[in-house]
Amino acid sequence: MENVYLNGRFVPHDNAWISPDDRGFLFGDSVYEVVRWYGGFFFDMEGHMTRLRRSLSETRITWHEIDAFPEVARELISRNSLDDGCSLVYLQVTRGAAPRTHAFPEPPVKPTVYAFARRQSLDTLIWERGIIIDLVPDPRWNRCDIKSTALLANILSYQAAHDHGLAEVCFIRDGFITECAHSNIFFVRNETLYTHPESGNILSGITRKNVVALAADNNISLVEEAVSADMISYMHEAFLTNTSGEVVPVTKIGDIVIGEGTPGEITKKVQTLFRAKIEAWGREHGARSMGQGA
Ligand code: PLP
Repeated sequence: MENVYLNGRFVPHDNAWISPDDRGFLFGDSVYEVVRWYGGFFFDMEGHMTRLRRSLSETRITWHEIDAFPEVARELISRNSLDDGCSLVYLQVTRGAAPRTHAFPEPPVKPTVYAFARRQSLDTLIWERGIIIDLVPDPRWNRCDIKSTALLANILSYQAAHDHGLAEVCFIRDGFITECAHSNIFFVRNETLYTHPESGNILSGITRKNVVALAADNNISLVEEAVSADMISYMHEAFLTNTSGEVVPVTKIGDIVIGEGTPGEITKKVQTLFRAKIEAWGREHGARSMGQGA
C-alpha cells in the first residue's frame, strides 16, 4: 500500500488521518509545494524550498522541521519503490487543527504536514503537438504569489475549460495576461520571449524561473512584461511552464490561433534547452545531494 508522510511519521495511506478541525480543511489555511523526481534526483529542490519558506512566512505558518523536507521527499520515493522513472512529490503544510474561528489559534498549534509521492510520467505527446487553452477573466485574489491550497477559483476556471475539452485556462486581469490555472505562460514575438513579471498576480513558478535563467544564459531575448490581451493575435508563439509538464507549446488561446497553429521554433529551442538543463542537473546534483547517481 502507498506510504505517505503525516506529521513526522511515514504511514500507510489508509492510516493517515487528520482532524476535521484542521484549518487546511476548514479554511484552505495552508500552503503546498510540488517537486519533480527524475529517476535519481529532484530538479531544483533549492528553488522549491525557497518558495516554500516564502509561502510559510507570508502566511505566518510555522513549520520548525522544514529543513527535513528534502529527506522526507527522498524517503517517500524509496518507500513507494519510485526510484526509477519520473514522479511528483506533493507537500502540504496547514496552520493545524483548532476550534473554528478566523483568528489564528492562540496559543499556536502544531502545523499539519502531509506529503505523498506518485508516479507521473512526462507527457511527451503534448510537447510535440501543443495544446489549446481557454481565455477568461482572472477570478483570483491578488496574492497569487503565495502557493496556497485555496485554489477554488483556479479549479472552477480549469473545470470549465476541461468541460470544453481544453487543456488549460489562461487568465486576463485589467486587460493583461497574468498566467494559467496551474502554469505560467510565455509568448514569443520576433524571437523575444515575454512573460508576466513576478507580482501578486502570478505564482513565481520554479520552471518559469529556470526558463528565465536559460534565456539569459543562451542569449535569447526575454522581457518580463505583461502581454496585453489585445496583442495575443500578434504573437508568433506561446508556451506554458510548470513542474509537471515542463515546457508545453500552446497552439490556440480562446478563439485565437497562435502563429501557424503548431509548436514554434523558439518554443522547441526552449524545450530542448530545458531538457538539457535537467540532464546537466542530474549529472551535477544527483549523486551528491540525493545519495545516488542520476
Ligand atoms: N502558476 C500556478 C497558478 C501554478 O499553480 C503553478 C504550478 O502549480 C505554476 C504557475 C507553475 O509553477 P512551477 O513551475 O513551480 O510548477
